[in-house]
Amino acid sequence: MAEIENQECPMCHENKLLMIEQEYEIPFFGKCFIFSVNCAKCGYHQADVEAVDEKEPCKIEFEVSNPKEDFKIRVVKSSQATVKIPSLKMSVEPAVASNGYVTNIEGIFNRFKKILESERENSEEDDVKKKAKNLLKKMWKIECGDEKMKIIIEDPSGNSAIISDKVLISKLKVKK
Ligand SMILES: [Zn+2]
Repeated sequence: MAEIENQECPMCHENKLLMIEQEYEIPFFGKCFIFSVNCAKCGYHQADVEAVDEKEPCKIEFEVSNPKEDFKIRVVKSSQATVKIPSLKMSVEPAVASNGYVTNIEGIFNRFKKILESERENSEEDDVKKKAKNLLKKMWKIECGDEKMKIIIEDPSGNSAIISDKVLISKLKVKK
């Protein structure tokens, strides 16, 4: 792990930025680097993962059928990846400030849950609230193992992975 302290922050321009680079060895994926920057002054945060070996644009599909086991499966999500859960009609697209990270299926699941919980609590529109409520019910069923859930990760950089032998990987057609 390498750390560089006191770099200039791109947001607040104070020299309070800490840059961290960590090396990970992930089974069946290989070595990858996780970069992150954190500003102690303004809280700016950015992170990404990059595989050491060059990867092809990929589409990764995984079906959660047994949450007890499946939730522990490791996921590498790069900043360029789109994560989709078709049964919830939800997707998280890469944005300007998208982060890359290593997590597990549960971590991905909880990110979607947080989006819905915030819509349920904070939306001004009743139908958005109601829809979020219903989707949260669906998520509880998935958590209990009563319903299956497919997760799809599309990554034009190829730097994403779901570490399981139940995973389906295909080539991603990159739109030009
Ligand atoms: Zn800052």
